[in-house]
Amino acid sequence: MDGVIVKTTLQLITPGILFVFGLAFICAWLIEKKRNYLLLLAGACVLFALGAMSQILSLPPGAGPNAIVSGALYTSAVIAAVEGILVRSGKGLGPVIDLAILAGFVLLIAYFFYIDRRLIARVYVQNFGYGLLMLIAASRLTALARGPYVDRVLFWILLLFGLHFFPRTLLTVGFSAPIDRTAFGNSIFWQALQLSLAVLGVGLALAILAAAVSDMIDDLRRERDLDLLTGILNRRGFQERVSAHLRKYGPSRTALALCDIDNFKSINDTLGHDAGDDVLGEVGRMLRNASRKRDIVGRLGGEEFAVFLPDTDEQEAVDYAERLRIAIEQNSFAVLGGARQVTASFGVGALRPGDSWPSLYKRVDGRLYEAKRTGRNRTISHSLSSVSADAPVAGSALQEL
Ligand code: GH3
Ligand code: MG
Ligand code: MG
Repeated sequence: MDGVIVKTTLQLITPGILFVFGLAFICAWLIEKKRNYLLLLAGACVLFALGAMSQILSLPPGAGPNAIVSGALYTSAVIAAVEGILVRSGKGLGPVIDLAILAGFVLLIAYFFYIDRRLIARVYVQNFGYGLLMLIAASRLTALARGPYVDRVLFWILLLFGLHFFPRTLLTVGFSAPIDRTAFGNSIFWQALQLSLAVLGVGLALAILAAAVSDMIDDLRRERDLDLLTGILNRRGFQERVSAHLRKYGPSRTALALCDIDNFKSINDTLGHDAGDDVLGEVGRMLRNASRKRDIVGRLGGEEFAVFLPDTDEQEAVDYAERLRIAIEQNSFAVLGGARQVTASFGVGALRPGDSWPSLYKRVDGRLYEAKRTGRNRTISHSLSSVSADAPVAGSALQEL
């Protein structure tokens, strides 16, 4: 009697837990409906629970139809789970491949029931097949193993889940399956299967939920740190990225360029605020295009921009600023209709030994101010003091700005 209760409870634990997780995935999807992979995972939970219910309740009746229906439900669940995890990383297999895999499983299950009736073969098809599917998914997601903690946990649980099918099946069922249904239900294979699915299934579902929450937080963070007008970082995002970079790599060979559009207020005053916004957006785009992937580009406020340049000495930073300055000067801003030219002034500097980030910032800000004071549309740095298309400024006076 005790054995029956334990067995029934074990049998019901898995579908019960899976329904709860299915609901959790739907709730997570309702928060942000663009994450469609959460629906696939909700579907996976429900399909697996239905597969288990179909076996427990013997629905449809008859061993053959039941093996095929429950097998199709289990297989769909595994495919939906694997596809959901892959889609999250933009690596989904697509519906055609998914359906082909499902058809392959169902055909094999039907073959080993109706044509060559062997329970052990069906056990191996399903267990090794599911293990293989998970391992294929893990092999497409190896990048997760080098990502943030949530991604690493997700990757390792998926890999472990996939791998476990092989030794567990071999160790608990060997090479012959119990013949009748009751003996199969009471077998170590069945009990171990229920237990491992409950433990690893919960682990995997929790890892995916944690990954979904972390995706949402990452998105919010990105939005918080982004300047909507220009698509580059705002002051907060810029400062945070710079601090993170300096914490990670230290202050070696790093330069800073500050850029401020000249007489920007008059663009607003003569052509309107919207035209000013367009110019800001265009300058932001030019800054982004002129920068390398590792550069940190931000709009510090109003019409002032900053570019943090890792692995860059002062001369290289001056070259960068000059390229930009000339590009801005020569750019024909559509919104201005050729009515006027836009120019910008630059302050540039590089970290010196024993220097701190605030002192570099202050120095470069001083040079930007000096660029304004000495006529605008120019770049001021330590070594060159001033570079400009029209009026270079003598060097010595500005050396220690
Ligand atoms: P300078 O050459 O000395 O830098 O002169 P400036 O006119 O560029 O600088 P100033 O600081 O006098 O004016 C900056 C103007 O930028 C004032 C402000 O209204 C405008 N501004 C700030 N943020 C925005 C924005 O988001 N959109 C638009 N269109 N204008 C902005
Ligand atoms: Mg300005
Ligand atoms: Mg300004």
